[in-house]
Parts: sequence; structure tokens; C-alpha cells
Amino acid sequence: MLIRELLPVVKYSDLVDPPDSCAVCLYEFESGDEIRRLTNCRHIFHRTCLDRWMDHDHKTCPLCRTMFVPDDLQDSFNEKLWAASGIGEYYQGDDDDDSLVVHLQDVMEF
Ligand SMILES: [Zn+2]
Ligand SMILES: [Zn+2]
Repeated sequence: MLIRELLPVVKYSDLVDPPDSCAVCLYEFESGDEIRRLTNCRHIFHRTCLDRWMDHDHKTCPLCRTMFVPDDLQDSFNEKLWAASGIGEYYQGDDDDDSLVVHLQDVMEF
């Protein structure tokens, strides 16, 4: 899900010198189509086509097999995944820490 947020969605009519057709479905683009552009190789596809492609757990361009995002971006993506893996929730549920903080604040004011 998160990787989709890294890939910009644009209107076909906003693109400069775009290809005529989508390499996934082989249909020609139309001016109002929503296009997803890969940040790494700059190939473009229908938003729906690329979303379906990603639903099958592909992480590379359907056309040239380049990774969707550059390696350094991939690292931060992995960190986001790690943060979303439930470790944050564990700390949120820890009430003892909160009361300790409140207690310390009381002591300092006193
Ligand atoms: Zn398509
Ligand atoms: Zn590509």
C-alpha cells in the first residue's frame, strides 16, 4: 500500500512527449486517463493497470523490470514498514510510562 504513495499520479494530458499506449493492457492512453509514473525508470502506465500489477506483489516495472523506487527510497520504505509492523502499538499501550512522566513533571514543579 505504502509504495503507491511514493509513485505520483498524473493526468495523461499533463505529460510531455508520452508514449501512445500502456505496456500492461496495450490500450492507447486517453487525455483524461490517470497515469502512474515510476520514479526510477520514468515509464508510465494506467493507474489501474499498475495498481493491479502491484496487487500481485510485483515491485518492478512491467516494462523494463527496474525497481519501482530508487534504492535509498526503498530503504526508507522498509523503515516505514518496520514502523507499521505493530511495534509502535506495543509502546502506545504501555500506561506505566505515561504515569511515570506525569509523576516526574509533578516533582519538578514542586
Ligand atoms: Zn493500461
Ligand atoms: Zn520501466
